[in-house]
Amino acid sequence: MSVLTPLAELVSTVQFLHQKGWAPATSSNYSVRHPLDPNQYWISMSGIDKAQFGLQHLMLIDATGRAIAPADAWPSAETLLHTMLYRLYPDVHCVLHTHTIFNSVLSYEHQYDRRLRLPKFELLKGIPGVGTHEAEIYIPVFANSQDIAQLADKVEVVLKQGTEAPALLLAGHGLYSWGASVAEAKRVIETLEFLFESMYRLKAYMPPE
Ligand SMILES: [Zn+2]
Repeated sequence: MSVLTPLAELVSTVQFLHQKGWAPATSSNYSVRHPLDPNQYWISMSGIDKAQFGLQHLMLIDATGRAIAPADAWPSAETLLHTMLYRLYPDVHCVLHTHTIFNSVLSYEHQYDRRLRLPKFELLKGIPGVGTHEAEIYIPVFANSQDIAQLADKVEVVLKQGTEAPALLLAGHGLYSWGASVAEAKRVIETLEFLFESMYRLKAYMPPE
């Protein structure tokens, strides 16, 4: 595998996510671990319209989130969540983040529950390690914050206690998901966005109690 393979995979995934409408208004950010140096990552630059996203919008950073190349570029404002996830999970090679109406509404509604239970739908099996739709899967929900360093510390404490899915929600903000490869992280994002939309529509369909 070429050093550039994960970068090309990431760019086509970003374009896919944008086409789905999951990265509006320059929001969302994405990264991959360097295949030859586990303490370096390529991450999307800040403020890029994802409709135009290409290789030139990825930059190399170190494990503290500092720019390596281009040295004068600005990484995503949420870089420290990515670096925390790579530090916590040595086998993770890709982190994806989406801003969607369904993940924003559900995480906002369940922020005081601090977790969201997924419906027992067949697509649960899109989550690594889940072999049946009968599984009880919860996604942790965190209060949104503009202090990303502090937020990353809080998230790390919770994730260290274990999770059922490689994902977390920020209330009224969006979804983070990660995987051993770009393809795996993408599969988790698609799975969860399908389940979030299903939950939302199921509730809209049910008559009020
Ligand atoms: Zn965000």
